[in-house]
Amino acid sequence: AMRVFSGIQPTGVPQLGNYLGSLQNWVKLQQNSTADDSLLFSIVDLHALTVPRSPQKLRQETLEMAASIVACGVDPSKSLLFRQSAVAAHTQLLWVLGCITPVGWLNRMTQWKSKLQQQGQLVGQTEALNVHAPAAQGLLAGLFTYPVLMAADILLYKATHIPVGDDQVQHLELARDIAEHFNKTYKTRLFPLPAPLLTESKRVMSLRDPQRKMSKSDPNEQRRLTRSAGSRSMRKERPGVANLLAIYAALRETECEQAAAELRDCSNAQLKEAVAEAVVQFVGPVRSEMQRLLANAGDLEKMLAENEEKVNGIARANWKEIATCVGLQ
Ligand code: ATP
Ligand code: MG
Repeated sequence: AMRVFSGIQPTGVPQLGNYLGSLQNWVKLQQNSTADDSLLFSIVDLHALTVPRSPQKLRQETLEMAASIVACGVDPSKSLLFRQSAVAAHTQLLWVLGCITPVGWLNRMTQWKSKLQQQGQLVGQTEALNVHAPAAQGLLAGLFTYPVLMAADILLYKATHIPVGDDQVQHLELARDIAEHFNKTYKTRLFPLPAPLLTESKRVMSLRDPQRKMSKSDPNEQRRLTRSAGSRSMRKERPGVANLLAIYAALRETECEQAAAELRDCSNAQLKEAVAEAVVQFVGPVRSEMQRLLANAGDLEKMLAENEEKVNGIARANWKEIATCVGLQ
């Protein structure tokens, strides 16, 4: 059977890459889904603890992320949308998997390296941002073992299909390796090997720096597409133009070539104008729906709690099986 799992960190307002690379697929998957427990989407607040922020901010952003996801079209009656920290088995499985994962495998991961760099840039800004400052302490264990928790997120549900952006493919391969290694170690077939589900626009690049992927928690990222965004690099570099075309095509749901033909005679300024227009048309309704949902935060919390009860049911049964398999209890 098909079991889908995907997560998003409550680390700010979702950026276009999150939607075009991942959330869009969450919504699409709902159209063909029959079983009511085959789609699991998580606001991964445990992962978000690796990004420095105040407790109030994390709590607020978690709720806002729930609202954003629903506003983007994820229907909580078709998908199980839940907060990761509401399901204790994620951290229980993290430990078990950590006990069979070589540190060498984690050393090869590239994300913690770029995140560490990003956090380094935060030093000195932390006062203004009202956050604690783990950046000053170098690489923290949580950031390093992040991919093991991600493997636990996936394997806990015996998930088979994982809609993610390109940047998470390396982590997903690690999750496969861990699953395979677990199965071999314990002579079991408990875990299926999860496969990525990628979209056409699986890697949306930053508008500030088209060499880097867009990231919602990047302090340097300009989230809103404005007329001035990336203008200097746009004039010099083709990647900026290619990125804008890709964004335009994805939002209009057409092919890149089609979009390129359509916008062939545009100046850079007109191109940006056209993309900005497409973004506004998309973001406008999403934002007002999100605000409506947040105005009824009680309903949102209730929906999450109900889903979390169901998810905990699945997680508890699987955790029992895993615990038995490794000799716990
Ligand atoms: P952060 O900066 O906090 O890591 P993020 O923007 O990278 O935030 P995540 O919560 O880490 O977002 O990831 C959520 C999903 O969005 C993942 O599936 C990830 O692969 C996807 N994603 C993130 N950035 C992009 C991007 N630029 N293009 C396509 N997909 C992306
Ligand atoms: Mg990320």
